[in-house]
Amino acid sequence: MANAARTVLVNGTGYRWPSRPVVVVCIDGGDPAYLQQFLREGAIPHIAQFMKQGFAVVAEGTVPSFTCPNNMSIITGTPASRHGISGNYYLDTATGEAVVMTGPELLRGDTILKQFAEAGAKVVSITAKDKLRRQLGKGLDVSRGNVSFSSEKADQCTLAENGIEDVLALVGQPLPDMYSMELSLFVLDAGIRLLELGRRDLMYLSLTDFVQHKYAPSEDEAKRFYREIDRRFGRLAELGAIVALTADHGMNDKSDAEGKPNVVWLQDILDAKFGPGDTKVVCPITDAFVAHHGALGGFVRVWCRGKATPQQVIEAIRGIAGLESVLDKETACRVHDLPPDREGDVVVISTAQVCVGASERDHDLSGLAGHRLRTHGGVSEAKVPFIINTPLTDEYRLKGGSAVLKSYELFDFALNGTVQ
Ligand SMILES: [Zn+2]
Repeated sequence: MANAARTVLVNGTGYRWPSRPVVVVCIDGGDPAYLQQFLREGAIPHIAQFMKQGFAVVAEGTVPSFTCPNNMSIITGTPASRHGISGNYYLDTATGEAVVMTGPELLRGDTILKQFAEAGAKVVSITAKDKLRRQLGKGLDVSRGNVSFSSEKADQCTLAENGIEDVLALVGQPLPDMYSMELSLFVLDAGIRLLELGRRDLMYLSLTDFVQHKYAPSEDEAKRFYREIDRRFGRLAELGAIVALTADHGMNDKSDAEGKPNVVWLQDILDAKFGPGDTKVVCPITDAFVAHHGALGGFVRVWCRGKATPQQVIEAIRGIAGLESVLDKETACRVHDLPPDREGDVVVISTAQVCVGASERDHDLSGLAGHRLRTHGGVSEAKVPFIINTPLTDEYRLKGGSAVLKSYELFDFALNGTVQ
């Protein structure tokens, strides 16, 4: 109780020291449509209970609605304009090369976990994909009992790098496959195990969207996954945790009636208009996990590298069917709260049923293997759940009911807004 009145300052926001463990879970690709479907079917009783006894709204995630920007927003409590991670890739205009944005050195500001750890809290960060691990663990001192690892590389954990070892034995499971729902379930099981074993103040558990890319809410495999995660959320609550759930982004089916992806091949269109090499389209969804989306998403950036001006590019593509907005850099940064130094000259966002790619020849869609393309990135995939299993104070209930919340306010609500 000595810590009851303490707050920890992170990027300008004060967070109250928790009186019991706070577990924030990012359900990667957890579109609100999945919850609606499975709540209707009675398949996720624990989440239903959380919503009844605690707090639940649909919030706005960060645009582009990709994994890295949203995880960084949630874990820093700030918009992308402040933390700087606006995609998996941006173009280094000095070299003309696309630069991967998953390094901790590109993340601006501190994570909530790091600051709490410095103040003496016991914190845990577990992610499915290793690409997120280093950013989530930025500055985190794992020599003092704090933990940061990915289920993808759970077999390689060392005390020096991750603050934990022998994770497979601890969880009692084999290393999960990179393309499986078990990669996510392992994250939750490891979190549960650590909570069972001793004191933890703050945990961040980030899943992967393999299931949501592959299966619609109406499909049995999706329901199976949600039943499994629901059971684990129930266990976390049973262990006394304040459980807060959100997603990094939603998911939409972007295929036509025959099952073929609806794609605007933007680089091909621009090359035909301005000549090859004049513009550079960068798809910031690109990562090592392309098999389930072929690097196609709802948001791309165009850099002008030659004669064509941003205005000419905008005029050339505005009005193309399937494009929801075509914005110059300044407008995109203002509307979507993005860092200007990492933004393209033109931002292109597609509609819910359509995605945008670069050149058709550069996208490998073989990984879809007959599945319809389901992906994200645009404004239409930026609606996410915002659920806390614990009642809110009057002040926060009012705050949560009077404005559309941002998903990066989840730690604020879970730590400062709950009745503890
Ligand atoms: Zn994601």
